[in-house]
Amino acid sequence: MSADRNIARVTATAAVHAGRTATNPTPPIDLSATYYLPGVDAGGESYESLVAGGPPTAEGGLVYQRMWNPTTAGFEKALAELEGLPEAVSFASGMAAITACLLAATATAGAGAGAAGKRHVVALRPIYGGTDGLLTKGTLGTEVTWVQGPADIAPALAARPDTALVVVETPANPTARLLDLDAVAEACGDVPYLVDSTFATPVLQQPARHGATLVVHSATKYLGGHCDVLGGVVATTPEWAARLRDIRVQTGGLLHPIAGYLLHRGLQTLPLRVKRSSETAGTIATWLAAHPAVERVHYPGLPGGDPDGLIGPDKQMLLPGAMLSFEMRGGYDAAATVAENVRLILHAASLGGAESLITHPASLSHRHVAPDARPDAGLLRFSVGLEDAEDLIEDLDSAFAKI
Ligand code: PLP
Repeated sequence: MSADRNIARVTATAAVHAGRTATNPTPPIDLSATYYLPGVDAGGESYESLVAGGPPTAEGGLVYQRMWNPTTAGFEKALAELEGLPEAVSFASGMAAITACLLAATATAGAGAGAAGKRHVVALRPIYGGTDGLLTKGTLGTEVTWVQGPADIAPALAARPDTALVVVETPANPTARLLDLDAVAEACGDVPYLVDSTFATPVLQQPARHGATLVVHSATKYLGGHCDVLGGVVATTPEWAARLRDIRVQTGGLLHPIAGYLLHRGLQTLPLRVKRSSETAGTIATWLAAHPAVERVHYPGLPGGDPDGLIGPDKQMLLPGAMLSFEMRGGYDAAATVAENVRLILHAASLGGAESLITHPASLSHRHVAPDARPDAGLLRFSVGLEDAEDLIEDLDSAFAKI
C-alpha cells in the first residue's frame, strides 16, 4: 500500500468522538448470539455477504455474532479512523489478530486468498515472544527468515520470491527499539508489510503514513488501558479487511461485545494516557540511566536512543512512548531482586495499563525465543503507568536497595 502522509495525527477530540454519533454517544452493548431472520432468502443473502467478508445486508440482518456484532463494529470503526485507514477488524486477542493476518496473507482459496499460496515470511527481531514463537514453530504452515534491520529485508526478499508478508514491530518488545518504517516500506517494494504498533498506539505513530498494509495492535494493552480486557485489532484496506473477516468467520477468534465496548471506551482517553505516561517514562529513564546499578537503559527518548531521528511532531513517532527496558549490572540475580521487591509497581505480564508493570522477558514473554535472540537475563521491561513519577522512582529505589 502506498504511504499516505495526509493522515492527520490523532487529536484528543478525534479520540473522544471516533466511531460515535451525536445521537448515539454511548454505543449499546449488543450481546445477541443470534438474530431474527426476516426471510429465508434475505437471511441467506446476508449470510453470503458476511461469509465473503462483507457487511450484513439491510434486508437480511446481522445473522449471528461470529459474523457481525454492532458493538465490536463500533470499536473497529473508531480504531480505523484513528489509524487513518478505511477499515479495522477485531479479534479475541493480539495473537488471534496476528494469526488471522498470517492466514490471510498465505491462504489459497476464498475471500481469504492472499498471495496465491506463498508461505514464506520475513520478520525482524526483536519482536514480541508470542509472535516470535508462532513464526519460529511454523504452526500456521509458514516459514520464516529472521532479519535484524530494514537493510536486511531486500536481500531476504530477493532470496525468497515466495514471500507473502514482512512482519515488523516498532517500538519493539522488549527493547523499545525503533524501526524506520519508510526504510521498511522501500525495502518491501510490492510485498505487503505488517506493523505491530502495540507499543506506539495510533497516538504516537500511524504506520499507514509509511505504507504499512496491516497495522496490528494487542488491544489488551494501551487501547483498553486498564488491564481488564483482552483483544486484538487490525487496521487495513477494505480488501484485506474482507479477507480478515472471512478468516474470523471461519476460525471464530472474535472479540466479545463487552470487550468491544471497553476498548471503544478506552480509546476516548488514549491520547491523555499515552502522553502522560510517555512524559513520566522520560523522567524514569533519566533516573535509571544515572543509577550505578543499571548497565544500560533502552529508551528512545534518551540521548542516542533514536539514532535514525524518528521522533518529533512531524516525524514517525510523536513522542518516545511509555515503554522502556533496562539491563542490570548484576545480571539475572539483580533483575530478579528488583522485580520481586517492587511494591507499587506490579511484577506481572502485559503492559499499557494504568498501573506500572515490570516484567523479566527472558523468563516470561521471551522465554521460548531462540537463545541467540533471547533478551539478556539482566534485562527488565518496564511499562510506565499513570502514577506520579516520584512514587515510581521511590519504589524502584527501595527495590534497588535490596540488591
Ligand atoms: N504484540 C505485542 C507487541 C505484545 O506485547 C503482545 C502481548 O504482550 C501481543 C502482540 C499479543 O497480544 P495478546 O496478549 O493480546 O494476544
